[in-house]
Amino acid sequence: MTCPLCISRNENIIYKDSFLRVILVDEIPGYIRIITQRHIKELSDLNDEEAIKITLIIKKIEKVMIEVLNPDKINIASLGNIVPHLHFHLIPRYKNDPWWPEATFCEKKREFNYPTSNLEELKQRIKDIF
Ligand SMILES: [Zn+2]
Repeated sequence: MTCPLCISRNENIIYKDSFLRVILVDEIPGYIRIITQRHIKELSDLNDEEAIKITLIIKKIEKVMIEVLNPDKINIASLGNIVPHLHFHLIPRYKNDPWWPEATFCEKKREFNYPTSNLEELKQRIKDIF
């Protein structure tokens, strides 16, 4: 079976190197996913240097998301039960978004017009981190 995360197909890539790639996920405007490039299941599978690096990247991207998107909260999730690519979901949350206050993996409760005019700025500000 080919691994769906080894090949980046139809992804809106913001940044990519040999360690990780950062993508803008279409499902929710402003939703960012950070995906390790090699097969790693858990955060503790990274060496210390890599763990510090990815943690700082998450922190910096979260900060940019807060500044550009002005959300009420950022949700960070690491699930990856199916594919062995450690990855992190960074999801901007708003108090009237379709799932609030539940996780975005739950059933939608309402419709919500996400701000979308700032997505190019978000991408540029994330590129500037690297
Ligand atoms: Zn893979």
